[in-house]
Amino acid sequence: MNPVPVWAQRAALLATLPVLALLPLPDFWITQLNYIGLYALVVLGLVLLTGVGGLTSFGQAAFVGIGAYTSAYLTVNMGLSPWVTVFAGLAITAVSALLVGWITLRMSGHYLPLATIAWGLSLYYLMGNLDALGKYDGILGVPSLMLGDWDLSRGRPFFVLCWALVLLGAFALLNLLDSRTGRAIRALKSATQMAEAMGVDTLRHKIGIFLIAALFASVSGWLFAHFQHTVNPSPFGLKMGIEYLFMAVLGGVGHVWGAITGALFTKLMEDQLQVWLPLWIGTSGSYEVIVFGVVLVLVLQYLPNGTWSLVDRWLPATPRQATWDNAATGKGPGLSERSKPAMGEVVLDVHQIRKQFGGLVAVNDISFQVRAGQIVGLIGPNGAGKSTTFNLVTGVLGLTSGTVTFRGEVISGSPSRVIAQRGMSRTFQHVKMIPDMTVLENVALGAHLRGHKGALSAMLGLDTAEEQRLLGEAARQLQRIGMGELLHEQAGNLAMGQQRLLEIARALCSDPALLLLDEPAAGLRHKEKEALAAVLHQLRSEGMSILLVEHDMDLVMDVTDHIVVMEFGTHLMEGTPEQVQQSPQVRAAYLGTDH
Ligand code: ADP
Ligand code: MG
Repeated sequence: MNPVPVWAQRAALLATLPVLALLPLPDFWITQLNYIGLYALVVLGLVLLTGVGGLTSFGQAAFVGIGAYTSAYLTVNMGLSPWVTVFAGLAITAVSALLVGWITLRMSGHYLPLATIAWGLSLYYLMGNLDALGKYDGILGVPSLMLGDWDLSRGRPFFVLCWALVLLGAFALLNLLDSRTGRAIRALKSATQMAEAMGVDTLRHKIGIFLIAALFASVSGWLFAHFQHTVNPSPFGLKMGIEYLFMAVLGGVGHVWGAITGALFTKLMEDQLQVWLPLWIGTSGSYEVIVFGVVLVLVLQYLPNGTWSLVDRWLPATPRQATWDNAATGKGPGLSERSKPAMGEVVLDVHQIRKQFGGLVAVNDISFQVRAGQIVGLIGPNGAGKSTTFNLVTGVLGLTSGTVTFRGEVISGSPSRVIAQRGMSRTFQHVKMIPDMTVLENVALGAHLRGHKGALSAMLGLDTAEEQRLLGEAARQLQRIGMGELLHEQAGNLAMGQQRLLEIARALCSDPALLLLDEPAAGLRHKEKEALAAVLHQLRSEGMSILLVEHDMDLVMDVTDHIVVMEFGTHLMEGTPEQVQQSPQVRAAYLGTDH
């Protein structure tokens, strides 16, 4: 671990700002740095939204415009203080972002980029056509930000203010990404199905990061209006929206600090191009766009992690470690635990469930039960309908007919997130984890529903006690299945067997009443299978109820109490492992082909 505490590092970084401002840098450079800071604030939001969350917005400049225009209008026309109008800008931004996000984010993939383009364009024309906003001339005479008699809207004082906000924004995002909410956000790009199965409301989190990104942009707009002392539509148009995205990509979209290098690099390049391009090409047409495009392609080709990776290389290696303190785990109240069903009670009752894909009946009126403390195997040849049954039970697929009852409540028809809340947790046939998070963080995602702290507490660093408990629980589950040595390993570096165990630990982290495992032994080597069998035996001895879909007959016969056999979507037979092994029907359908 780094010996200097994080808060001290951050305080030191903030303290360098006034020192930098006192250095005899030419005013020109201070002004440049001020613009870079204004850009960086917007790009920070895009790092979260696009880099981490995988959602592309071309409309950030429009949110900058809302922040700028709101404050300009209210200070000039109504004489309000800029320290008040910033909140008005944030409020209007929030309402617009929630509206745009709520409408577009529930639709799949590409609607957001398109909608943000439409949004950016329409707001631009609105700003340019409203008389009250001065049409294309904009609003002039926007007052300075004053602190007593001190004008913060000029050169060096503005530099300190603007960059303090950039740094505070960056710290807030770093805090956020290292939190319960942050782990859910980091699952949005590539693992929404898994996140939903862990109880994460992915739509809410998408709207949330869209909102946060918009608010960052709005603050930048507020600063901009009082720095320029005038606003007009041109800096808030679509071209600028594209440029912000460009900065995020140049910085290295996944890195918080990349927002700063991206803004810096873009601004410097822009300035240089304005000087050199007319000399080379002879005209002052907007050839920058073409050069920008070429640079972007080159960066993506040769520096896929952006310009921040150039800087990062020279910094001391600080391995990403969720700040979990082993000693602190025992302290304070633990996480709440759900009441468990009594041994032998029916936990899962699957009744006549059916799934048709067009003409194909993949699951044909299947019924079976799982009792508390039992391990029930669901087997059958390839294509028998096991995975489909599994997805019907967990809410990933909708039923054609039939009912699924879990702990006495009908759950068929509920989404997987709601089913997870009731206490069913699962693993996936194709491992679904977040490769660039640590093992501990991945597993902690399973405990999502056992925490309550949201984005704001995380950004302000008010979630540490709960974090300790969530990460402590994740560590405990990893130790339970024998992976206590690998807590801080990147999940992507794990062998297949370890990845499957990680999924089991993650599912256990939700304190489930029923665990569903979809082919946990698929792709495992002999030794890994033995480790898996040991874990399953241990879970059984602890009284866990498990529904196991598995191909490996030795494993199924070894660990299950009861087996349901499917063939061509139908229920072939069920019984104890011995009965199934001896059944001529099953031999004909299944074992016969294997043995
Ligand atoms: P198993 O897991 O037992 O190998 P599955 O449940 O994956 O079997 O598949 C059962 C049958 O349903 C197969 O014939 C498969 O091709 C079909 N099937 C599964 N999912 C779909 C789908 N989304 N659309 C159409 N057919 C599907
Ligand atoms: Mg399958």
